[in-house]
Amino acid sequence: MATPAILVNVNRCTGCWTCSMSCKVGHKLDLDEYRVHVNTIGSGNGVDSPGGTWPNVFMKWEPVYGKSCTMCAERTVDGLEPMCVFNCPAKALTYGDADDPNSAFSKRVEELKAKGFGVSQKPVWEGTRDNVYYAERVTAI
Ligand code: SF4
Ligand code: SF4
Repeated sequence: MATPAILVNVNRCTGCWTCSMSCKVGHKLDLDEYRVHVNTIGSGNGVDSPGGTWPNVFMKWEPVYGKSCTMCAERTVDGLEPMCVFNCPAKALTYGDADDPNSAFSKRVEELKAKGFGVSQKPVWEGTRDNVYYAERVTAI
């Protein structure tokens, strides 16, 4: 039994929202409807305001997938990537079968773990979907 999953490489995400917009356009969603949105992790004062105090400032972004996300089953059944994955300009997203060790998803998980990334799922809060994993390297190289 396949388990469709998406891996987010947090260290590659630039917070551009292309994932969200490509989903919205591709699925003809209403203006106020999103299947994935992008959280800014920083000071909380807006997308251009990092947290911390100079020179020790930080900012990162995390796409968060909602329960309405279908993982683009209508595309993946034909061997295509989900629209958000295909269109991410930073190649921060990887799709594949979490149960298949040879899938693009599983291979990328192992590749990033070998490079020192931690890989985890976030708690499935109300409104978020499961089988989305986040990879992040916490120590600088
Ligand atoms: S996951 Fe990719 S498309 Fe989405 S905000 Fe990050 S860099 Fe942009
Ligand atoms: S996997 Fe498909 S449905 Fe889910 S957020 Fe990405 S583009 Fe939208």
